[in-house]
Amino acid sequence: MDDSAPPAPASLSERIRARIQAAGQRYHANDNIAQFIDGQQELGALEDEVAQRIQGLLEALVIDTESDHNTHGTARRVARMFLHEVFKGRYYPMPRVTEFPNAERLNELMIVGPITVRSACSHHLVPILGKLWIGVLPSEVSNLVGLSKYSRLADWIMSRPQIQEEAIVQLADLIEARLRPEGLAVVLEADHFCMHWRGVKDESHMINSVMRGVFLHNAESRKEFLQLVRGGGG
Ligand SMILES: [Zn+2]
Repeated sequence: MDDSAPPAPASLSERIRARIQAAGQRYHANDNIAQFIDGQQELGALEDEVAQRIQGLLEALVIDTESDHNTHGTARRVARMFLHEVFKGRYYPMPRVTEFPNAERLNELMIVGPITVRSACSHHLVPILGKLWIGVLPSEVSNLVGLSKYSRLADWIMSRPQIQEEAIVQLADLIEARLRPEGLAVVLEADHFCMHWRGVKDESHMINSVMRGVFLHNAESRKEFLQLVRGGGG
């Protein structure tokens, strides 16, 4: 190899990774990296690179994408699905959510759900489908957001390769930071298709919860929330 040869130009994913590293940020599967991608045009170029690499994956799987019309466009379809649909929570900025002050000084427990959760496990990239409930107890100084915004935020967090336990902590952190409620409770009940699909029957269904503030410290509040979720959620 000639030492004087210029280094091969970095791929776009390498350049994006270098920007993230320079900023000292994490880029795990469930981290959002939208701020390091320069607009729709660059995202389009990243889609080209991902499509190319998925084509390589299909070739490694010894699938004849030339004569098999079913898989001819698969690499492009999967790249598009990953970047713009099922993993969009990594590549797109947080949806716009406008907070407003608690002018009426509401202090009643409010529950949103069941919100449909569509995610994928970080281990196998296979779907996780489930239902989510969010309970918020506002204080006089809390911010509020419209009810539909909770599902938008949840969708943004879940549309990434996830781990169920980390997903609800990320969602709780996000809601807590924006609303500063007196109490916050999140319950997620989900089916892990990597278990169903691969025939590993154990623990395919998983329920977990995060309790903050009054729901953590007050057993009565927690009980009230869980009873309402069970009564309404089915
Ligand atoms: Zn899995």
